[in-house]
Amino acid sequence: MDHKLIQRAAKDILNSKKTIAFTGAGISAESGIPDFRSAGGLWEKFDPEEYADIHAFHTNPEKVWLMLKEMFSLIMTAKPNPAHLGLAELERMGYLSSVITQNVDGLHQLAGSRNVIEFHGTHRTLSCLKCSFTLDGTSLKMEDLPPRCSRCSSLLKPDVVFFGEPIPWEAQTVSFKESKSCSAVLVIGTSAVVYPAASIPITAKERGAMIIEINREPTPLTDGISDYLILGSAGEIIPAIIEEVKRIR
Ligand code: NAD
Ligand code: ZN
Repeated sequence: MDHKLIQRAAKDILNSKKTIAFTGAGISAESGIPDFRSAGGLWEKFDPEEYADIHAFHTNPEKVWLMLKEMFSLIMTAKPNPAHLGLAELERMGYLSSVITQNVDGLHQLAGSRNVIEFHGTHRTLSCLKCSFTLDGTSLKMEDLPPRCSRCSSLLKPDVVFFGEPIPWEAQTVSFKESKSCSAVLVIGTSAVVYPAASIPITAKERGAMIIEINREPTPLTDGISDYLILGSAGEIIPAIIEEVKRIR
């Protein structure tokens, strides 16, 4: 961990009028939910582009639920890690306006973040494809998959955005409003290759915002969009930045 960059990030947060966080699967890796692109975990068994595809869900729900079932049990037992908790603390201290997340695990909310925008929906609830019935994920019966609506017996789908589905209108509108009005973005644990999500930090940069990237490796944003990259794990870097913010504020 580069201490000069930790100090720089803390100063930039204190000098910024409005800071937002834009997070990806990497921030939840230390909670035991594997990201898409790093090695290991369930994504070696299930290619997300094949399984997390809305057409596959409609034509072969039994197959897609093999993947959803594993993702579900991981998410329902996962706990927020120091990176999630740190962002919640930064919000409480008044230094973070919102968290825009590509994650579907609900861990930001569990950590105590209040203003969370779920760009790709959530795995914690399911909706009927035909009627308005919704189900809390905790009531899902794992031995009876794919789950069906108790009212009309149509298929239930987790409220996540599958490949091939549009972004929820409100999440998209609010996210771009945040990205156009902020003066700094913490980009944490995302490979920044899934669009339109990845255009959030790019839009902010075009309006003059400072882009602070935190990741275990460089991404397509690193050269050209990010002002600097703090290399390492989010669970160590975020708490270190917060310590520094508290020390110098
Ligand atoms: P990604 O898997 O494409 O990229 C994750 C990035 O995080 C990589 O660059 C990796 O190097 C980095 N990373 C891994 N561990 C890290 C750590 N401890 N600290 C800092 N950085 C770390 O993820 P993405 O960009 O979010 O895109 C994948 C899509 O898949 C998202 O849209 C999301 O909806 C979905 N997804 C969600 C979850 C979840 O909800 N937890 C998990 C897997 C995938
Ligand atoms: Zn129904």
